[in-house]
Amino acid sequence: MTEIENEYDPDSIEQKWRERWQEMGVYQYRDDEERPDYVIDTPPPYPTGNFHIGNSLGWCYMDFAARYHRLCGDDVLFPQGWDCHGLPTEVKVEENHDIHRTDVPREEFRELCIEHTESQIDAMYETMLDLGFSQDWSHEFRTMDPEYWGETQRSFVRMAEEGYVYRDDHPVNWCPRCETAIADAEVETDDRTGTLYYLTFSSASEEQRSSGSRTQSGDSEEQHTSGSRTQSGDSDAIEIATTRPELLAACVGIAVDPDDERYADRIGETFEVPLFEQEVELFADDEVDSTFGTGAVMVCTFGDKQDVTWWAEHDLDLRPVITESGHLAELAGEFEGLGVNEAKEEIAQALAAADVLNDRESIEQSVGICWRCDTPIEILSKDQWFVRVNQEEILETAREIEWIPEHMYARLEEWAEGMDWDWVISRQRVFATPIPAWFCEECGHIHTADEDALPVDPTETDPGHPCPECESTEWVGETDVMDTWMDSSITPLYVTGWPESSFESVQLREQGHDIIRTWAFYTILRTAALEDERPWDRALINGMVFGEDGHKMSKSKGNFVEPKEVISEHSADAFRQAIALGGQPGTDIQFQWKEVTSASRFLTKVWNITKFASNHFDADTPSIQDPAYRDADKWILIRCAEVADRVQEHMDAHRFDAALRELREFIWHDLADDYLELLKGRLYEGRPGERNAARHALYTALSASLRMLSPFAPFLTEEAYQTLPAGAESVHTETWPSLQTFDADAAQRGQLIVDVASAIRGWKSDAGMALNAELDRIELFVDRDGERPAIDTYDLSSAVNAPVYIETGRPNIELVPVGVDPDHSVIGPQFRDRAGAVVSALEATDPAELKAQIETNGEISVDVEDDTVVLDPEAVDILEEQRAASGEEVDVIELDEGTILIYS
Ligand SMILES: [Zn+2]
Ligand SMILES: [Zn+2]
Repeated sequence: MTEIENEYDPDSIEQKWRERWQEMGVYQYRDDEERPDYVIDTPPPYPTGNFHIGNSLGWCYMDFAARYHRLCGDDVLFPQGWDCHGLPTEVKVEENHDIHRTDVPREEFRELCIEHTESQIDAMYETMLDLGFSQDWSHEFRTMDPEYWGETQRSFVRMAEEGYVYRDDHPVNWCPRCETAIADAEVETDDRTGTLYYLTFSSASEEQRSSGSRTQSGDSEEQHTSGSRTQSGDSDAIEIATTRPELLAACVGIAVDPDDERYADRIGETFEVPLFEQEVELFADDEVDSTFGTGAVMVCTFGDKQDVTWWAEHDLDLRPVITESGHLAELAGEFEGLGVNEAKEEIAQALAAADVLNDRESIEQSVGICWRCDTPIEILSKDQWFVRVNQEEILETAREIEWIPEHMYARLEEWAEGMDWDWVISRQRVFATPIPAWFCEECGHIHTADEDALPVDPTETDPGHPCPECESTEWVGETDVMDTWMDSSITPLYVTGWPESSFESVQLREQGHDIIRTWAFYTILRTAALEDERPWDRALINGMVFGEDGHKMSKSKGNFVEPKEVISEHSADAFRQAIALGGQPGTDIQFQWKEVTSASRFLTKVWNITKFASNHFDADTPSIQDPAYRDADKWILIRCAEVADRVQEHMDAHRFDAALRELREFIWHDLADDYLELLKGRLYEGRPGERNAARHALYTALSASLRMLSPFAPFLTEEAYQTLPAGAESVHTETWPSLQTFDADAAQRGQLIVDVASAIRGWKSDAGMALNAELDRIELFVDRDGERPAIDTYDLSSAVNAPVYIETGRPNIELVPVGVDPDHSVIGPQFRDRAGAVVSALEATDPAELKAQIETNGEISVDVEDDTVVLDPEAVDILEEQRAASGEEVDVIELDEGTILIYS
């Protein structure tokens, strides 16, 4: 029990607890057999050095869940990893040191990457502590550490044994700038304007040239209606349209729609590719869009994925013409060495010069680009490592997971069903998990590492035995490394101690919807393949954080907010509440400063409640025996129990927004506005037994409130909790409140007291009176079957500062006219210079007389200077007062449960 500071000072409180919690080990997973596990599969963020507001949304959700589950008695494992490997770091290191990765030995380059990554991690770690996240840092992992990537290698070896991993020469997406293969999930699309070129391919079929018997002969009408715009005079030529003339050297066929009448009898004919002169055959395929261009498309190895399909299905040649760095290769002849864009222009010029370029037009197209550098990707066929994608197994596993919100499953399903290639996992880079394999120099045998040799870098170490096929000892280590998703897709396995302990699904995965097709997809694939299990019971998906104007945050738009800015202006506790209240999980939320300021006001309120309450507590308060609770005490404890149930339901459903709203409403209104006001008299002036009951009930309700609020405002609740007597060492090692129950009648009586006190408080405030102003007396009429209800007026009486009498039935009240208020805006224009006299006459008349005239005649007549004038009822306002049967003036407030008479 510590003394509470007078002022709420979030800066010093948050700094203090940030450090102290670490020293105390409050958030450590105990691996306690007695308690249920609650394991979170925390995203390992890419160490960019900047933990931004978008990150903080997901981490707030995880932290709310982690803290809530600790209160519920679960043994919570909230680990934190770092997804270190990858291209962005390599690029950054190349920039920072002004080198190309091949300028230094692999190991040296790797060291530079590690050094860079460590500094980035430190910065993000600091922000996580500032925000009050409760990870167990003894379970921190970094995918670049050998103890982690050794497990990534183990998962690779095991999947290879099970036939999930294979090596094949298959076309893959290739970024010519990054010079590496990339997976489908790393290809983004960009809409841009390109050029569609119309080209003539001359006929190469001998018989056609000689026969001249073709229907599309000469320059007949038919040639034009057929859609061909051949200008070369070769009647048997064909016109194709392409956006990529630079791939002409890679052309291996021409495809048309089998239902396209223009080409119906030409299937099987051969044509010569302009400039490059290879002969290609015309074939039909249902996938051709006959409305595009001329309806005849050139098939290259490879312009796009469709080319790959045709190439495989129609058994076409392979003519690779693009190099790994995006230049034209030897097959391009005189154009060899040109970059793709240059080649496009030069080849178009050459086509024009050869008189085979018939036309060009602009076209809107969707281009696949590298996620990292926006360079248009190429499709190259190379020896690569692949992971087999078993769509059925993945979807079956995904359906065993509870998706929150539910529709996020559909996103995964859509992605999985649309996948047509296996997952290419090899990358031609350095800073990543080495693929643990060697090639026999003699016979080409591929050896995958034995598990007990892991972790291993095959560029540094040999397998340690000769080739089983040919006995050669000359091995070449694989230099390809793994896609970083191979690292991060084993996180649930890694954090649960795989492979030592057998894997069971963890309780929660939290992640953004933007990485469903990568992180969620790959993790499901991997645990299904390795352990035949779902990775998690629940997947909680978060949206994005938008700026106050509802748009994506950007520095140039001025709607950009960083967590540290909010912390320094207000507090982490306020920031966390603004995030929670932004909306329900799964939706995009809008960051609102006004939520931060209202959260700050609420926190000050909680501070003040605690300050007031702690003045009345001593070390014995929690253990007061058989407190003689009054109705108000029972009421707050009943309300508190109801709120605890409801908040628990919301927390179980991850509706953090609803849970926090419920809590704030309870603490602010029920506890502070209503209960504390009813209680003050007893706390200050009650007899010892009465005071003890009040203190005990207040202690119970406040302690419960702080515990329930602790997931949202961990710092303030901790500081406040420390000022209460006899608690746990931290509010965060406390339990979820479980409160005494009372009969429903007590609840009803308590509610009535609260409502009456609140109504009178409102009445005093409207009347401009001090809230503690003394009143003559209060009569409370409650109609309960003629019986006088046993209402406890003790607290009520002191709260309203008046004696309170309970009566049954309806009060006998009448409205008595006591004055008249003439309306000058009606009387003035009507009576002009006599208006003053009319007003005087009205004021001189008995108001009861005026009221009677209005009721019986519908008008008023008064004598004015020997004359009788008649006025409409609108000309006056009759002022009335309520009078009790005794004739005393009284104010009346109607409530649902009864009627209050105030004698003042
Ligand atoms: Zn790239
Ligand atoms: Zn061999």
